[in-house]
Amino acid sequence: MKRINLLGSTGSIGLQTLDVAREHGYKIEALTAYSNVDIIENQIREFKPEYAALVDEKAANDLKQRVKDLPVKILSGIEGVSFCASEAKGDITLNSVVGMAGLKPTLDAINAGKTIALANKETLVAGGKLVTDAAKKNNVAILPVDSEHSAIFQCLLGSPRNHALKRIVLTASGGPFFGKTKDELEKVTLADALKHPSWSMGQKITIDSATMFNKGLELIEAVWLFDVSPDMIDIVVHRESIVHSLIEYSDNSVIAQLGHPDMRLPIQFAITYPDRFPSPEKQLDLWEIGNLSFYKPDYETFPCMDICRNAIKKGGLYPAAVNCANEEANLLFRQGKISFTDIPRLISEAAEYTENKPDYTLDDVYNTDSLMREKVRELANV
Ligand code: NDP
Ligand code: MG
Repeated sequence: MKRINLLGSTGSIGLQTLDVAREHGYKIEALTAYSNVDIIENQIREFKPEYAALVDEKAANDLKQRVKDLPVKILSGIEGVSFCASEAKGDITLNSVVGMAGLKPTLDAINAGKTIALANKETLVAGGKLVTDAAKKNNVAILPVDSEHSAIFQCLLGSPRNHALKRIVLTASGGPFFGKTKDELEKVTLADALKHPSWSMGQKITIDSATMFNKGLELIEAVWLFDVSPDMIDIVVHRESIVHSLIEYSDNSVIAQLGHPDMRLPIQFAITYPDRFPSPEKQLDLWEIGNLSFYKPDYETFPCMDICRNAIKKGGLYPAAVNCANEEANLLFRQGKISFTDIPRLISEAAEYTENKPDYTLDDVYNTDSLMREKVRELANV
């Protein structure tokens, strides 16, 4: 039976991971969240983990009181999350924390020899070299949960990794603003940006999908996961979100993975790999779908994809810098303090201040994070 340490259990991916665990009877050894006491209390009562952690100290104390009738041990702070990631009894740590806060727990889990199922893409973008080096050193597998990367991973199965691989094509839904002009984007609101056409997700990634920064993050994520150069990765807008990504071999043979837009399938495959089991995802009916469409992305109107491509080409701390600047700009937009089109502008301007180092440490990533957040706020006058 699979045993899972689940980080970010109260979020969109966390809840869907628990759907999968409920369906297949997987044992949940640890649950973590930031402060959502109500949801995590219910999850503890249902799944009976040995450990649970909330980053927020006050919320953790509240939780301790609420579940004192149970044997669960309640921890707090990011150290509590790291403990759940690395010391709890799961053989797999599924990381669905949002943002680069997930980096340290990922590293701790890898160093403890846990297989990682990774939804938290910011981990690989901010600390790709640290994470992949640690995984190699500890002989730990990083299994993608992100649907595009799960698709590529599935397409590559059965052929020697990277053998004759020529190109990776990431599909993008295009988000709610596909087809809009730069001028039209000046006036969009938070409510408009939160209306994703095909996926229901947490707020941060929904805004990243509207700016297309999410596809830039995914490009960097693919560079680290599949050990390819950024120039080998193309992006295609595919509004129906049925083709989850494609790979192309040197003979121009293209292989794709298809399915309905339902994260429970990539979540489940990251847990059951290399096995497959029935999943709650609806069977694909191509007659019902009828047509699939593909478009070239509008790189001028949505500059975030190139911001990320250029950052990974520059290397070192640049990917961390653009990720952290985006985390802050995304938050300021959600707080109503900046406009939608301020997001790419602030990221580009802040990233100019990056103090780059090709061989960076975890502290360098944290320093870059603080610097970028400060610069974004300064440049936005907030
Ligand atoms: P949500 O915002 O829905 O959930 C985030 C989770 O992380 C919650 O459990 C939250 O706890 C916890 N959390 C928030 N801040 C911190 C912190 N500083 N330290 C520790 N835990 C924290 O996000 P999603 O589930 O949408 O996304 C999670 C990750 O998965 C992201 O990296 C996203 O890019 C990626 N992803 C998501 C997809 C989706 O369909 N949602 C698809 C592909 C990738 P609390 O509830 O207490 O705030
Ligand atoms: Mg994705």
